[in-house]
Amino acid sequence: MLLTISTEHKPATDLGFLLHKHPDRFQSFDLSFGQAHVFYPDVTEDRCTVCLLLDVDPVGMVRGKRRDQSFLLGHYINDRPYVASSFMSVAISQVFGTAMGGRCKDRPELVTTPIHLTVRLDVLPVRGGEGFLHRMFEPLGYTVEAVRHTLDERFPEWGESPYYSATISGTKTLSELLTHLYVLIPVFDNEKHYFVGEDELEKLLAKGGGWLASHPEKEQITRRYLKHRSSLYRQALARLVEEEEAEPTEDQESSEQREESLGRPLSLNDQRHGAVIAALRASGARTVLDLGCGEGRLLRELLQDRQFEQIVGMDVSIRSLETAQKRLRLDRLPDRQAERLKLIHGSLIYRDKRLAGFDAAAVVEVIEHLDPPRLSALERVVFEFARPQTIVLTTPNREYNVMWETLPAGNFRHPDHRFEWSRQEFQGWANRVAEQHGYSVRFLPVGPEDEEVGSPTQMGVFERG
Ligand code: SAH
Repeated sequence: MLLTISTEHKPATDLGFLLHKHPDRFQSFDLSFGQAHVFYPDVTEDRCTVCLLLDVDPVGMVRGKRRDQSFLLGHYINDRPYVASSFMSVAISQVFGTAMGGRCKDRPELVTTPIHLTVRLDVLPVRGGEGFLHRMFEPLGYTVEAVRHTLDERFPEWGESPYYSATISGTKTLSELLTHLYVLIPVFDNEKHYFVGEDELEKLLAKGGGWLASHPEKEQITRRYLKHRSSLYRQALARLVEEEEAEPTEDQESSEQREESLGRPLSLNDQRHGAVIAALRASGARTVLDLGCGEGRLLRELLQDRQFEQIVGMDVSIRSLETAQKRLRLDRLPDRQAERLKLIHGSLIYRDKRLAGFDAAAVVEVIEHLDPPRLSALERVVFEFARPQTIVLTTPNREYNVMWETLPAGNFRHPDHRFEWSRQEFQGWANRVAEQHGYSVRFLPVGPEDEEVGSPTQMGVFERG
């Protein structure tokens, strides 16, 4: 498998500094499954290209220290040496580890400068088709071109192979690009990844942390990345979404249960928070309110993103705030982190000076807890007095309730809900409130979308005109 990274950033030879690999040298590295070679076929001021070529030794891999029983099937005949997607990730992290970590002693300013980079991957096994390639890279801001290879050019009647040559380009820091490749390359290949272990989980979370939590395909990514390691998969998701419930250990489960849990989707709550964070991030907000923050799950995700410099969570329930404080371990956070976050007690139906002057506010699954007269008070408090540039607001979509077999017809999802709106009702309300207070609003579905009844959660993103 060959990975090629090119740039026309001037001077293009900066790529050598960033990668800590001298452009004039051909270098080889011994890895547990074979060798990786790094060389530069193209080095000028105008264009620089580096290649990372993997030379996987399938026999050595079987005989060597990795005696994973489950690998027996593919011992000598397999496509690993040629496609080797998880090995490519390992090679990226071992050979380009410093660059991926965003370190460059000699030229630190280079590391943080996004440059236009083009990656070519030959040959990438893509189970899931070309659309899957687009869905993985495009949300991260890349353009993707893919060419599918036939199984054998001499026998076109054999049809297409699952192998693609993919060209991915975007303006990113090299560290971001390598991190995205590191996490995503193994995801395309729906094979088992032999290197997966506890430390890989750490790496996925460390490397994917910020962007993975808000990637619309995060569930697929995590599941495929940690294929067949259900306890790791669950751990990863749990950590991504900061669940705190204890999970059973793997040996307590039958393999059947394991398969089942692999297919278990991300909870709606997680998808909701992912969507809210993505909208807040896209708004460019640096100071954010979480109104009706409850036990602080969204706050925790906000804290993990350095874009958000000031975060204030407010709730009417002291008990929820106490739980939030404990969960976020506010007293144990380093000072600089703790200074970014404040919890305040208050009610959204009273005008509150502390809420003024923020870039954005999240109001996640709160409005349906208010009686209609209080809701109109909240409208004024949030849209007229707090008046942030961006407001991201979610509420259940009642139409979707029919999809839940366990929810008796006509019931609300939560006993404390005062109403649950259809899409039309929510959009009617949101359009009126936006117009009244000088905002524009757009609507986004959150969670699995059904053609007829829509998605379980509806989200409105309001922008002050
Ligand atoms: N936003 C959180 C919690 C949603 S539950 C999440 O997404 O997980 C609704 C929350 O709104 C509860 O924590 C409740 O205490 C809070 N809430 C209800 N009425 C409120 C009011 N008038 N002012 C502030 N918070 C309120």
